[in-house]
Amino acid sequence: MSSGDGWTTCAAGHRHWGLYGAAGLLLVGDGRVILQHRAPWTHQGDTWGIPGGARDSHEDAVTAALREAREEAHLSAADVDLIGVYIDDHHGWSYTTVVARAARTVRPYAANAESVAVRWHAVAEVAGLRLHPGFASAWARLQDVPPPLYLVVSQAAADDPLLERLRLTGVATDRLPPGLAGGGLTRLLPRVVLAGNPTADLARRYAERGQVLTVEPADLKLLA
Ligand SMILES: [Zn+2]
Repeated sequence: MSSGDGWTTCAAGHRHWGLYGAAGLLLVGDGRVILQHRAPWTHQGDTWGIPGGARDSHEDAVTAALREAREEAHLSAADVDLIGVYIDDHHGWSYTTVVARAARTVRPYAANAESVAVRWHAVAEVAGLRLHPGFASAWARLQDVPPPLYLVVSQAAADDPLLERLRLTGVATDRLPPGLAGGGLTRLLPRVVLAGNPTADLARRYAERGQVLTVEPADLKLLA
């Protein structure tokens, strides 16, 4: 029994599993996503969703999603490059979908009794499956997963405590400058690259790998 196990009611009057909210992992790669066929005995079972479950009292959503993905689908933290989170906020309860790209070849399998099967599905197939209702509403907005976000940080901003907060909780996508894609996500989890001054050379180099935002001290507050 974990500290988050239990039913609760959100402000809209729904019953939800997870006293401290819940979280799951949506892993994408090469036009495919990993889905879990939930066992018939689970809540809203015999449907396809993502590995996930109740958060413990001390857990942030990313930690909870990775733990559930390990327990249910045998996925490890080394399998994933984190992209960001989509928070379905019901006020008083929330479900956080942690979106990641496969960092290497991943062969998931049903690792405990909550799953009948765990496997890759082509993105185009997903809408035709019997989906868990919570996942179905998240999926409607999560099909254009953005490239990873790199924050190239100037020396002057490197020691600002706000930078550490952005690294842990992410950059709000509604605060991204024009031209950067947030994909339907609520926050992007950035990789922080510390640069000397000027930052331009490094920013050009990282543009080949993903989206780049160069950060000066004044920018940090705008992104938090
Ligand atoms: Zn609700």
